[in-house]
Amino acid sequence: MHNTYLSIGAHIGDAELTTGLVLATKSLEGDKIITLALTAGERGNPKHMTVDDYRLQKIKEADDFAKMLQGESIVLNYRDGELPDTLDVRLEVARMIRKYKPTLIFTHWKHSMHKDHQLTSKIVEDASFFAGIDMGDKLEGERHYAPVYFAENWEDSEAFTPYVYIAGSHEGYDLWKRAMQTHWFIMNSPSFRYYDYYTHLAVVRGCYARKDYAQAFSVHEYQKKIIL
Ligand SMILES: [Zn+2]
Repeated sequence: MHNTYLSIGAHIGDAELTTGLVLATKSLEGDKIITLALTAGERGNPKHMTVDDYRLQKIKEADDFAKMLQGESIVLNYRDGELPDTLDVRLEVARMIRKYKPTLIFTHWKHSMHKDHQLTSKIVEDASFFAGIDMGDKLEGERHYAPVYFAENWEDSEAFTPYVYIAGSHEGYDLWKRAMQTHWFIMNSPSFRYYDYYTHLAVVRGCYARKDYAQAFSVHEYQKKIIL
């Protein structure tokens, strides 16, 4: 039976960078992958482009990435930097969890330099809880529970301790590297060398995992007591 992986980021690019090796590797094994961005991340726009134009470009970049992995990309309608801390956004994410019934959910670690990242971590955890319980007429669809793993993101590094390593294949690493090149900021950001950092981190994490490549995840204390 194939698995489904739902990777949720605050901005387009977060899921692609921090979980893309795993998503690419799993997609080549026949699993289904979905990226869900709560905002487009359009305020990191390049100087030559308006925020609105960059938003459209980013949505296309997310779509191109997901298509290269035979998956789907979903982008919610919230503005970058203005993600609301509401029940509605939690229910919107919970609806996606019930719809796609993921085996595993990936999202941000709870501490971050970016307010949208911190909030996304909380929203996804609450949404995962809501998706698994009876929310009455607030939430339609069949109940579904999936564990949440917190991805390794340089912006979310405070007190992040890797616990689970998921290995990537050579083919997955190659596909991920090609797919990341669809994103302008990953290749061209003047503020951080995203492509270099994440492609090399996957090699370093692979060393710890005794594999060629890997991405690392943290989990809650209570999950550490579960033996899979
Ligand atoms: Zn982000």
